[in-house]
Amino acid sequence: MKVKLILPALTEAESPFWRPIKYSLFPPLGLATLAAYLSPEDTIDLQDQHIETLNLEDNPDLVIIQVYITNAYRAYSIAQHYKKRGAYVILGGLHVTSLPHESAQFADTIFIGPGEDTFPQFLKDFKNKCPEKVYTSRIRTLEGIPPIRRDLIKRNMYLVPNSIVVTRGCPHHCTFCYKDAFFEGGKSFYTQVVDDALAEIERLPGRHLYFLDDHLLGNARFAYQLFDGMKGMNRVFQGAATVDSILRGNLIEKAAEAGLRSLFVGFETFSPENLKQSNKKQNLQKDYVLAVNRLHSLGIMINGSFVFGLDSDDRGVFERTVEWGVKNAITTSTYHILTPYPGTQLYTEMQQQGRIVCSDWNMYDTRHVVYKTMSITAEELENGYHWAYKEFYKWNNIVRSSINHDSLKHQLKHFFYTGGWKKFEAVWNFLIKTKNLHNMLPILESVLSKVRQKSPQTNKTEPLQQRALIDHKF
Ligand code: SF4
Repeated sequence: MKVKLILPALTEAESPFWRPIKYSLFPPLGLATLAAYLSPEDTIDLQDQHIETLNLEDNPDLVIIQVYITNAYRAYSIAQHYKKRGAYVILGGLHVTSLPHESAQFADTIFIGPGEDTFPQFLKDFKNKCPEKVYTSRIRTLEGIPPIRRDLIKRNMYLVPNSIVVTRGCPHHCTFCYKDAFFEGGKSFYTQVVDDALAEIERLPGRHLYFLDDHLLGNARFAYQLFDGMKGMNRVFQGAATVDSILRGNLIEKAAEAGLRSLFVGFETFSPENLKQSNKKQNLQKDYVLAVNRLHSLGIMINGSFVFGLDSDDRGVFERTVEWGVKNAITTSTYHILTPYPGTQLYTEMQQQGRIVCSDWNMYDTRHVVYKTMSITAEELENGYHWAYKEFYKWNNIVRSSINHDSLKHQLKHFFYTGGWKKFEAVWNFLIKTKNLHNMLPILESVLSKVRQKSPQTNKTEPLQQRALIDHKF
């Protein structure tokens, strides 16, 4: 059987703000995971429109398309194209799970939720010529899943080919997050068997890894065992975790020992009212500065995530957020305009309040305002969002932020990581065009090299651990 797996490009990947490098970071791991269930006799073509022009002139038997909200229209048009050519088309992903009735109009079969249990079942049914219209995931386990078909990934086209996911979901329930909608009807947080995760890591060449898990520290027991197993593997890695998990116990030290060098942290907002509105309990009454200092004392760089437009935000939120990031030496900041994705609690609430003003999914890219704002206007919100990005990444702020670290090595790492990421667009574009992105990996690995931790006399970690037990207000 000829099978085609497609990740259509997100609409924002073609906007004037498009930074090609941002969309050439990670390969489509989800599709490569599904491909592992196909038979060795199948001919498989995996295409990612972010890094290549789609070949739409072929005639596959089965087409599998991954749908996000801002590639939905494009995904539907590709689906129609292949249906006309006689292929059997299936759609899955976050947007399909959120709006199954919409997606079903364009597919022969849709998948709701993760596909580990339903995709193998579909393949059996398809072989027996009795596929269902809808497959809804119920059994949530990663035990016994076959190794990802990484051979289908064009490694040289990505900056981070060694991306990996060892858990699914997250233990928290933020109202703006897709997570609850995607995992509805079953477990919403589960992990691989530690030995399977370690075996997957062993299979990856080079030193660098990027864990794409929503919350790598979300299951402490799993994470302890994982980091124990990774000690001595000589890896450097990046991942994501919450503020409370950084402050609790000594898991973050274990992660640093295993090679954690940079962490995506969802600070989102400094306002307790906003945190309550978002049900982001894990951040409530947590001392962000304490978390930042703890990461810095371990030589871990920080990618801070911040959301603008929550109901208690005022006009000063942009300046406060940028200044806090610079002052606290946050290496990179990711800003978002609050976006009520369909299927989320936030969307339902806003819909009930009559606040959704736009249903063009292409605008749901976290750069546009699609709802009625409260304390600031939509124009102020969009302008403030763009201003924040520009301001945070000005050279003088990159320098100011870098020199806020204690050690020269950390200062230099910060400077090169932030400057390299944001200020050399032409170089990135050249590397992408010449298919040389993977040659940057050794440089990335050296920027992520270890910063020596402070000596026991000056080590802030211990007092931080103790203080973390006490609740701190912002
Ligand atoms: S902590 Fe992150 S991944 Fe988890 S529910 Fe909240 S936003 Fe989603």
